[in-house]
Amino acid sequence: MKKDNSFARMGLAWVGLALTLAVGLGLSAGAAAAEYPNKDKPITLIVPFAAGGPTDRVARDLSEALRKSMGANVLVENDAGGPGGLIGASKLLRSTPDGYTLMVHHIAMGIFPSLVRNLPFKVETDFEYLGMINDVPMTLIGKPQLPANTYKELLAWVAANKGHINLANAGLASASQLCGMLWQASIQVDMTSVPYKGTAPAMTDLIGGQVDLMCDQTTSTTSQIEGKKVKAFGVTTLKRLNIPALKDLATLDELGDKGFQVTIWHGLYGPKGMPADVIAKINAGLKAALKDPEFLKKQEDLGAVVISDKRSDPAEHKKFVASEIARWSPVIKAANVYAD
Ligand code: ASP
Repeated sequence: MKKDNSFARMGLAWVGLALTLAVGLGLSAGAAAAEYPNKDKPITLIVPFAAGGPTDRVARDLSEALRKSMGANVLVENDAGGPGGLIGASKLLRSTPDGYTLMVHHIAMGIFPSLVRNLPFKVETDFEYLGMINDVPMTLIGKPQLPANTYKELLAWVAANKGHINLANAGLASASQLCGMLWQASIQVDMTSVPYKGTAPAMTDLIGGQVDLMCDQTTSTTSQIEGKKVKAFGVTTLKRLNIPALKDLATLDELGDKGFQVTIWHGLYGPKGMPADVIAKINAGLKAALKDPEFLKKQEDLGAVVISDKRSDPAEHKKFVASEIARWSPVIKAANVYAD
């Protein structure tokens, strides 16, 4: 009887095809990593907030340093909107994990899971962690039309205007919202939250007097405070800042809000599934950028502290974000705030 071995032949053909594919894919992944970054293909840094704000400032300064350290064309793209920059973060996760679409994001990565219900991704597992960038203090600032000039006068004004005070922020799960929420809790006054797509448009309205107060990173407030476009009431670190523009600004802690402290950290992310060699190349480029004298000076002049510890390593970055998720979860639960 003639043995029909067509199944066996098909099996062999499949094995052959699979092997060809595996070798081909292996080679192309290796080749992609070997030629990364391709000088003709720009690397896009997604900023999940409006242009001209503090996250944008960090990303634009970093893009210049990365351009030098990676020998690549690095562009910044603003994809603002959603709680905590959800729109930009979701866009990153829809991109090809080839190292050409990355994201600069801040502390929202540590507060997303507790503030945003039905979060469409998992912060812990859906991103590639590429290293942390900096720590940035915040300042409590007010519209120039406010009658108060000191923190004491501000508290008196707040007491006299309860129920009529607008506190601007970049939306739920934003750094400004987190700081404002902690400050309201510390002085035990509820204010109306006015969300924007980033603190750059909020700053325009604050300067124009459409909103009363905001807590925002020094990477955007320093020049406005220096130019007397807004009133500054306190800084959110336990120690005063050692930069000319803000060295005389008292800490909220010394002004009576004992222990008040908020620092906003930024990190670099990619979508899950990037080749290991590409991650290593980006991380090496980031580490070199973090030592770039021009980047350091620009950031330090704005009160930011560029990461010089092991958190610039992807594994430590990931561990740090996990520790922040654990740290903020009880605070946010106690404040009973969330976004859908
Ligand atoms: N500072 C903003 C925030 O509150 C974000 C931004 O506009 O960069 O999260």
